[in-house]
Amino acid sequence: MSRIVGIDLGTTNSLVAYVDDKTGLPRVIPDRDGQVLLPSIVSFTREGVLVGAAAKRQLVRRPQSTVYSVKRLMGRGYDDVKDELGYLPFTVLPAEGIVKIQIEGRDVTPPEVSAIVLKSLKERAEAHFGEPIEKAVVTVPAYFNDGQRQATKDAGRIAGLDVVRIVNEPTAASLAYGLQRIREGLIAVYDLGGGTFDISILRVKDGIFEVLATNGNTHLGGDDFDRAIVLALLEDIRAKHRVDLGRDLEAMQELRLAAEAAKVRLSAEERTALTIPFDDFTYHREITRAELEALIGRLVESTIAPCRMALADAGLAPADIDEVVLVGGSTRVPLVRRRVQELFGKMPHSQLNPDEVVALGAAVQAQILAGGITDMLLLDVTPLSLGIETLGGIVSVLIPRNTTIPTSAREMFTTSVDGQHVVDMHVVQGERELAKDCRSLARFELSGIDPMPAGMPKIEVVFLIDANGILNVTATELRSQKAAAIEVKPTYGLSEADVERMVEDSFTYAEADVEARLLIETRNEADTVITHVERALAQGRRLIGDDEHASIVAALTALKDARGSTDRDRIREATTAMNRASEHLAELMMDAALKGALASRRADEIMEK
Ligand code: ADP
Ligand code: MG
Repeated sequence: MSRIVGIDLGTTNSLVAYVDDKTGLPRVIPDRDGQVLLPSIVSFTREGVLVGAAAKRQLVRRPQSTVYSVKRLMGRGYDDVKDELGYLPFTVLPAEGIVKIQIEGRDVTPPEVSAIVLKSLKERAEAHFGEPIEKAVVTVPAYFNDGQRQATKDAGRIAGLDVVRIVNEPTAASLAYGLQRIREGLIAVYDLGGGTFDISILRVKDGIFEVLATNGNTHLGGDDFDRAIVLALLEDIRAKHRVDLGRDLEAMQELRLAAEAAKVRLSAEERTALTIPFDDFTYHREITRAELEALIGRLVESTIAPCRMALADAGLAPADIDEVVLVGGSTRVPLVRRRVQELFGKMPHSQLNPDEVVALGAAVQAQILAGGITDMLLLDVTPLSLGIETLGGIVSVLIPRNTTIPTSAREMFTTSVDGQHVVDMHVVQGERELAKDCRSLARFELSGIDPMPAGMPKIEVVFLIDANGILNVTATELRSQKAAAIEVKPTYGLSEADVERMVEDSFTYAEADVEARLLIETRNEADTVITHVERALAQGRRLIGDDEHASIVAALTALKDARGSTDRDRIREATTAMNRASEHLAELMMDAALKGALASRRADEIMEK
């Protein structure tokens, strides 16, 4: 049995944990200096690549070659992260559906940067166990889409780690508290980290977790607390020392570090002193917890609305929640704890270190996979519907939103043009009726289909989402036995805000979307009838008289005319009229075809005798 470790690959900090064989309890692994948290920062210097605390020290001196918050870029396209770029001092450029980071003339991708963090944790674990570590469970936010999960797995592969399972962070936190043992219950996981806030509502039943809803704010966390303190300090310094340090990058960094340290102390103490030596003067002041709470009160308050939205999405009230779990270093702030307790009306779980609890849960999941714990299974759900574009740009959904994964679905399709030997497959994600309003995840071709009349090929499309949320799409033409497949590595990423917007849009545009879909379907039907009638006219002209021919041609002209309009009723009526006008011809052709078939059968039978 090879060892599997659990890794929390965080936006701000990352860490690695394992389950101790003797005690059966999960434990974090510190580095040689006893540090458990590895800052998720990588600095590319001429002397080599620095990671963690060493890289963090380069933030001021080398902002352009020191990469942090790379988790925000994982598996995402340039358009997805445009809004993000204002926050980041390094250069991010578009690259074939994903983004790359440019550092002193060389390009790195987000998975490559994350791989450096993972490799450091891998080496830490190897030093601890004195043996190679090749497998890991890695956690991601519950709202990560297929592409972001895939990018996380890629990062593992680059680091020489087989990511045997991707687990949602809130699920991992619940596992760390052993909440899988509750027979049935509802769990709220409140995660306030360095730069992100996530609230997840989970249901656990017979050891199975299900994500009911997620919400949050991708730009809210402890960094914002620090910033609020720094602003107050700047003002104080201006008043006391008559200098403005706002433009002095080094001084600002000093202030930020001092502010964060004071904030951390104030989680345990009522008051603390701050002393920062600058070139020309030394700044000194006291700050109390009450003062801190006044500075960050509004920020803390702004986490409540997302909590209520997640609850509403899950159809729940705060009082329905059985267990509340605190995750993220910023939930050590007493004001945050008080506010969460107030909202849910119960004491949250906080016995474990909130910045370690996700990694501890990942270790529990790793142990389950390694066979050490056998009575558990983990489930998650798809955040958005997945489907395929069909004729006229309509989406045919195969896996609806909120389906529990792993899951699979299959559906039959056919061609719309005679002799078509290639079919374009377009995989989309979203809640709208038309493909153009959804997210394009992947395109591929199913080719080599034997030439057949339209409607004859039988194309079976299978969607399979594995336990890691990776989508596999296969299309097979059953008559010619030609198949094509793709593992979806979406060109686009997705944030929780996107998910929210896409779901909202589907309500906003519901009526217009349904109208557009019905029009396309009516037109598709008219097209099929037109094709059939034209073929019948060409093949069966000799079966009918001139009058009948003339009336069919007239109906055909009227239908083609109506098809060009947006009046659905008119198209439908013209289609019905066309069917009526060509009914007799169709019967005659059917008879002729049957006679032909019988004749050949009789010939076969005679031959057999
Ligand atoms: P992430 O999940 O974003 O990687 P973490 O969960 O490690 O981040 O949280 C990091 C944040 O927690 C930082 O803003 C840090 O200042 C804050 N933090 C850590 N310990 C404390 C504490 N004792 N009191 C207040 N904030 C803390
Ligand atoms: Mg975290």
